[in-house]
Amino acid sequence: MIYLDQAATTKVCDEAKEAMEPFLRDLYGNPSSLYELGETAKEAVEESRRIIAKAIHCTPEHIFFTSGGTESDNWVLEQAFLKGRPIFTSTIEHHAILNKCRQIQSRGGDVCYLPTDSKGVIQLKLLEENIVSGTSLVSVMFANNEVGTMEPVEEIGNIAKKKHCEFHTDAVQAFCHVPIDVERMGIDYLSASGHKIHGPKGVGFLYVRNYQNFLPMIYGGEQEQGRRPGTENVPGIVGMGAAVKVQMKNLSEKIHREERLRNYLANRILREIPGCTVNGSASRRLPGNLNLSIAGIEGAAMVTLMSDDEICISAGSACASGQAGPSHVLKALGQSDEQAYRAIRLTLDYTNTKEEIDRTVECLKRNVNRFRRGSR
Ligand code: PLP
Repeated sequence: MIYLDQAATTKVCDEAKEAMEPFLRDLYGNPSSLYELGETAKEAVEESRRIIAKAIHCTPEHIFFTSGGTESDNWVLEQAFLKGRPIFTSTIEHHAILNKCRQIQSRGGDVCYLPTDSKGVIQLKLLEENIVSGTSLVSVMFANNEVGTMEPVEEIGNIAKKKHCEFHTDAVQAFCHVPIDVERMGIDYLSASGHKIHGPKGVGFLYVRNYQNFLPMIYGGEQEQGRRPGTENVPGIVGMGAAVKVQMKNLSEKIHREERLRNYLANRILREIPGCTVNGSASRRLPGNLNLSIAGIEGAAMVTLMSDDEICISAGSACASGQAGPSHVLKALGQSDEQAYRAIRLTLDYTNTKEEIDRTVECLKRNVNRFRRGSR
C-alpha cells in the first residue's frame, strides 16, 4: 500500500510506540498520585511538555494538553466569545473553527469571515481595514489542510498586536512540518494535534500566552493548572512528545526532502497527464501538499480507482469526507462546484519514497486514461 494522505492522519512512528508502551503496561500510575508510580507518569507528561514547548519556542507552562486540534480550537473560540467582543476568522478554516463560529453566532456572537485570494492567502489589507476596535480575537490557520496554503502568520500577528487583539492560529497541519516560533510570530494561542505528526490520535495541545486569565472549558480537578481537568492521557501525551522529537530532528532536511518529492510528483503529473491544474499557492505551500484538479474527472471517483490500486489519496479534505457538497475551501478560492468536485489531494512526508511517487504517477495516468476512454 502507498499512503499519500499524510494530511488526514499518519502512522504512529516506532519511537512513539516504544515510548508509549510502558505507560500502557506497567507504568499505569495516575500523575496526581504521590508515590513513585504516579511521579513517574507525571515526569513523563512534563518531559513531553518540555519537548513541545521547545519545538514552538515557549516555556512549558504555556502548553495545555487536550484531546486534539478540534478541542483546542473550540476552547480558544469559546473564551473569545465569552468576552462579548467580535471574532475575525477566514473562510477557509477547518470545520473545527467554522462550525464552532457558527455555534457562537447562533448564541448572538459577532463573527466576521475574511476572504482569501484565489490561492488561499488571507488578504492582509482587508484584515487591517476591517478589524474593528474592541475585536477580541483573530483566528487564522497556519496552513490550510486541503490546499496547503501557508498564511502570512507573522504579518497577521503584527496586525493583531497593532489593533490590540489576540491572535490564534490553528497549526494542526503546520506543527512539526514547518518551523514555528510563537514569540517571533506574535502568536497568542496555537492549536496542534498528535496524529498529524506520527503520534497517536486523540491527543493534542493548546499553547496559551497569557494563561493566567484563561478559563477552563470543562470543570473538575487540578490537572493542567486546573484549566483542562481530567486524568491525563499519559500514553497519548508521551507518544506525542516522542513523535515531536523525531519530527523536529533535522526538520529542515525533512522539509527539503518533502519539497523535492512533492515537486517531482507535481512536475510529472503536469507533464504527463493533460488537463491537470494545481489548486492553491505555488510559493506559500506546505512542503508535502499537492492539490490538483483533473479535467473531466470527479475527485471522489479517482480516489476509489486509486484505492483499487492500493494507493491512498483524498478528494478535498479527508477530515471532511462523508460530508456532502463541494469543498468549502475551493469554493472560497473562487472555484465553481464543478471545478471543486474535480480536486484530489496527495500529501506526502519524509517517510514516502521516490519509488512510491513513480508508482502513483503511473497508476494515476492509467486511471485517467481509462476514465477518459470510458466516458467518450
Ligand atoms: N484543524 C486542521 C487544520 C486540521 O487539519 C484538523 C484535522 O484534520 C483539525 C483541526 C482537527 O484536529 P483533530 O483531528 O486533532 O481534532
